[in-house]
Amino acid sequence: MASPKFQNPKGMPDILPENWEYFKKILNVTEKIANFYQFERIETPILEDENLFIKGIGIATDIVHKEMFSFRTKGGDRLTLRPEGTAPVVRAYFQHGFQELSQPVKLWYFGPFFRYERPQAGRQREFWQFGFEILGETNPALDVQIIQIFLKIFEELKIKNLVLKINSIGDNFCRPYYKKALVSFFRSKIAGMCQDCKRRIKENPLRILDCKNEKCRQIISRAPQILDYLCENCKEHFKKVLETLEYLKIPFQLDPFLVRGLDYYTKTVFEIETKEDIGALAGGGRYDLLGKLIGKKELPAVGGAAGVERIVEIMKRENILPSKKRIPKIFLAQIGDLAKKESLKLLEEFRKNKIQVLESIGKDSLKSQLRFAEKFKIRYVLILGQKEALEKKIILKDMKTGKQKLIPFKRLIQKLKKLK
Ligand code: AMP
Repeated sequence: MASPKFQNPKGMPDILPENWEYFKKILNVTEKIANFYQFERIETPILEDENLFIKGIGIATDIVHKEMFSFRTKGGDRLTLRPEGTAPVVRAYFQHGFQELSQPVKLWYFGPFFRYERPQAGRQREFWQFGFEILGETNPALDVQIIQIFLKIFEELKIKNLVLKINSIGDNFCRPYYKKALVSFFRSKIAGMCQDCKRRIKENPLRILDCKNEKCRQIISRAPQILDYLCENCKEHFKKVLETLEYLKIPFQLDPFLVRGLDYYTKTVFEIETKEDIGALAGGGRYDLLGKLIGKKELPAVGGAAGVERIVEIMKRENILPSKKRIPKIFLAQIGDLAKKESLKLLEEFRKNKIQVLESIGKDSLKSQLRFAEKFKIRYVLILGQKEALEKKIILKDMKTGKQKLIPFKRLIQKLKKLK
């Protein structure tokens, strides 16, 4: 078959009905947990001022450097398809005066995000994330609560073999010392490292630590570790996070080279992976600097985001099915123009009374309609012909016993509600 003229843009897949069932399941579980923990939903626009991300995520990060879809509008504004959700949430927090509310403000979101990446397994240009943000408080217990929420969602979805990786990347006070140590360590080795790392050593030396290049990884394994450079405040914070995880018996792996791709993180950073080879399912951390970067105000905060498509992929690989669709036990067949019109009316009555009925209102022949009912093994069939429609009556046939009855419209709802 020749391929159709128009295709979806590269890396921006359609979410087909079969996949939406998985999305729906993930959304339901996420919403239930968000409600329990008193998070309120926020949805920010798909487009934001480009500068929000340049200032918030950082000019030297991969996202801003090469992954943003940005364009100029007819009015001359520079806008960007949102590559992540945290900077927009913080923008909304300040814009709507949330600092006046009682703190912390707890928000969650679920929607599409965009990054100009090379499409591959687990990596698309349009992908969905859900995220949780706790804004306005510094307590390390909140870092653990965010982690716990993601773990609980994955657990509720029955995803197994989760691995929590955690690190602290310090703050504005101690990180510069660490950066200095990194630069002086890598300077003598950079000639043998990849092009990206050569750029990163000047612009963002911390990012060298998550380079995936095999040669670079060998060198990185001998690099200085941030934990040796943390100031007292960051050390104390991290200690409390780890102690709380231990207290809750949440297993974790300390990963001294976990830095994540965004500049705004401070102190705790984390990722949750599975044993499957599709990258992290979720990631996040504390971002006490972001408020200053985009709102010129202090705003301690912690949060994280999870990738919906990767979760769907894991659910499929592990044979975790979204809930099965329930097939109605009643089918409505109609013959003739008047019966079609009356059927449209009846369907509304059924909807109001919460009676699920399958129909094939576009078909004319009774035979093909009955074939449809047979295919879904539906026990009760309602048949409305011209004569019945005129008399405001309908035939109810039990396909199991073969018995049928003529029922006045007036008594129909009552009768259908009693069917087993
Ligand atoms: P990040 O905002 O980069 O921390 O991403 C959070 C989560 O979103 C990741 O752990 C992935 O599950 C998912 N994710 C990030 N980028 C992509 C992408 N390009 N395609 C699919 N999922 C993604």
